[in-house]
Amino acid sequence: MSTPMAHDPYSATLFEGLPEFLPGWVWLVGGGPGDRGLLTLHAINALRQADAIVYDALVDESILKLARPNVQIEYAGKRGGRPSPKQKDINLRLIELAREGKRVLRLKGGDPFIFGRGGEEALQLVAADIPFRVVPGITAGIGGLTYAGIPATHRDINQSVTFLTGHDQTGALPSALDWDALAKGSQVIVMYMAMKHLRSITEKLLAAGRRADESVAIICNATKPDQQVLVSDLQTIADDLEKSNLKPPAIFVIGEVVRLRHGLDWLGVVEGRKALVSDPLGVAE
Ligand code: SAH
Repeated sequence: MSTPMAHDPYSATLFEGLPEFLPGWVWLVGGGPGDRGLLTLHAINALRQADAIVYDALVDESILKLARPNVQIEYAGKRGGRPSPKQKDINLRLIELAREGKRVLRLKGGDPFIFGRGGEEALQLVAADIPFRVVPGITAGIGGLTYAGIPATHRDINQSVTFLTGHDQTGALPSALDWDALAKGSQVIVMYMAMKHLRSITEKLLAAGRRADESVAIICNATKPDQQVLVSDLQTIADDLEKSNLKPPAIFVIGEVVRLRHGLDWLGVVEGRKALVSDPLGVAE
């Protein structure tokens, strides 16, 4: 295939042995949380072969520049107040493009199977008898924490992590969540889509016995050049958020691992913002 990289021996080796994108197939690919350096080789291999790309709101547009020339690009997200296409229409579009014999890349933010409806889309492909492949991506709830200098697990603090969504299909706080069980059983909670209902989320956790002074953070535009991190405690974060100008997309993380940021904000150091402390948990003799 003639791609701009075809004569570069290094990229020839880079893609050697990776799958060929066959016409009529859909590849459901995770594009990671934003920073294009967090794409997988499989994702780039998909971008360089795809005939059509259907991408979501959270996919950074710089990633689309890696596609081959003349690729057909379609946007399937919400933008500028216009309503987003219905999930059913996106599914039908993927099927239609595949039936036209295109190599269809369905590019999603983060990981397609984490709060990304990737499973729903793939099941529709199964029903329509369209062959597909799924490529995982770095999910915002892990990569975003790392870019904020917050390890999702730290041996001295937690042995488990819980991923939650702050929205259900209707946009309301999911009614199936057992807040008592979460407050008691989840050492570290990483929450997607938490901004809208942040105050009720914190109230529910506090009412269920979670400590008011527990460390929490909101990470906005994680891994992107405009990443912003707000650190607070469970009691005050809703007020702090109101006073801030922070907007979604954001990850909300609850747990003492957040304190490690004082020692591990490597990005702050790279960008010349601040010095690190070597004992962020305050446990040294
Ligand atoms: N499949 C995606 C999640 C899609 S749901 C993934 O695996 O990351 C959309 C939510 O993901 C957003 O509301 C936000 O909570 C989170 N999110 C995605 N990208 C983000 C980013 N760059 N920074 C902060 N949060 C992000």
